[in-house]
Amino acid sequence: QGTHTQSGIVEDCCCDYETVDHLNEEVLDPLLQELVKTPFFRYFKVKLWCDCPFWPDDGMCILRDCSVCECPEHEFPEPLKRPSSLGLSSDDLVCREGKPEAAVDRTLDTKTFRGWIEIDNPWTNDDETDNGEMTYVNLQLNPERYTGYTGPSPRRIWDAIYTENCHKYPSGEFCQEKKILYKLISGLHASISIHIAAGYLLDEATNLAFLFFFAFLLLWFQWGQNLTLLYDRVLRYPDRVSNLYFTFLFVLRAVTKAADYLEQAEYDTGNPEEDLKTQSLMRQLLYNPKIQAACPLPFDEAKLWKGQGGPELKQQIQRQFRNISALMDCVGCEKCRLWGKLQVLGLGTALKILFSGDGQENLAERLQLQRNEVIALMNLLNRLSESVKFIHKVGPGPSISKTMG
Ligand code: FAD
Repeated sequence: QGTHTQSGIVEDCCCDYETVDHLNEEVLDPLLQELVKTPFFRYFKVKLWCDCPFWPDDGMCILRDCSVCECPEHEFPEPLKRPSSLGLSSDDLVCREGKPEAAVDRTLDTKTFRGWIEIDNPWTNDDETDNGEMTYVNLQLNPERYTGYTGPSPRRIWDAIYTENCHKYPSGEFCQEKKILYKLISGLHASISIHIAAGYLLDEATNLAFLFFFAFLLLWFQWGQNLTLLYDRVLRYPDRVSNLYFTFLFVLRAVTKAADYLEQAEYDTGNPEEDLKTQSLMRQLLYNPKIQAACPLPFDEAKLWKGQGGPELKQQIQRQFRNISALMDCVGCEKCRLWGKLQVLGLGTALKILFSGDGQENLAERLQLQRNEVIALMNLLNRLSESVKFIHKVGPGPSISKTMG
């Protein structure tokens, strides 16, 4: 049974832990797992250059992961460019540098890019203009997991996020909006840590030796769970667990709030069968009677920005979130940068859905999202759902278990 000790209502939300676990297991997780595999949702457009606007290059980009950026398309095996390509993991590609776990694969699928509006998101720093710096990444080939990115570089980024852009609120903090920004980031951070623990590289040395002869088999078996890390970074801090659930419910609320828009959106990738499946999965998620019955309002955004300085506060928090979004360009590990950018864009999209306009007009008529924002939003929801599922399932004891990665 569940490992976290929390019970009752998730702080600042409208549903309790047990309901969230149950809904996630029964409805959300199965649907999301299918959804993120569809051609529409598995390709993410991203600029992966490491051009940090805040401090000079700290060496991580050049020495490690940024050096893999130059992967010409022709280096990829032909089957990997087609949606039906299977079975091969990112680590089987030729285009890779010293740290196999750090490489990012790219596959192009121009057909998935249609009919979406390119309007800047006021909450994020991304310039989505298509140019040579943009690349398409197949997310299924690049799972978010342990990459070996540790030390001063990630520490500096997390520090900059927490100390300059979203302080931990003192207990009794009244400003709900600032509290929410902190909780969203802490929840995301907890989720990243959970994915590192769930997909941990257990033995790098053997991994490289084996790679030479039995790459395929080996890569399958060298990844496992690191429950000590899970406990040390997340489970022993009830507030981090709580913030994860909060973030999950916040993003779920954004998705269900935008249900009419998302239902009407075009999921065309030129593969009618797959596209119908995508549409059907989206519909099952957006108008799911079980979700509506058990947790009709996962988060109540209507009570925010009501105080006297509401508009100014919103601008300030928007600025802080944009800074956090820009900080993703400072992440030294390419794969971490990919998932950092995707998830921060997903959060920015949730913020845009919940907080644009005054809440009075018809959201579906007013809302304009980029295709990439919707991809980020649904993939983020899936990441959070996986994290919630993982900590609900595993035992709390600090130990390392070996399972398939
Ligand atoms: P960190 O996770 O770096 O935490 C730093 C400090 O933040 C902690 O000491 C604690 O005070 C505080 N803190 C930690 N968790 C929380 C929380 N949930 N809420 C509030 N405060 C908290 N590494 C990978 O292997 N794979 C990845 O995919 C990956 N993605 C990353 C994405 C981003 C955007 C960043 C910045 C880093 C990423 N990393 C990734 C690195 C990883 O997050 C850690 O920084 C690294 O593993 C070192 O961990 P640590 O023990 O020093 O603690």
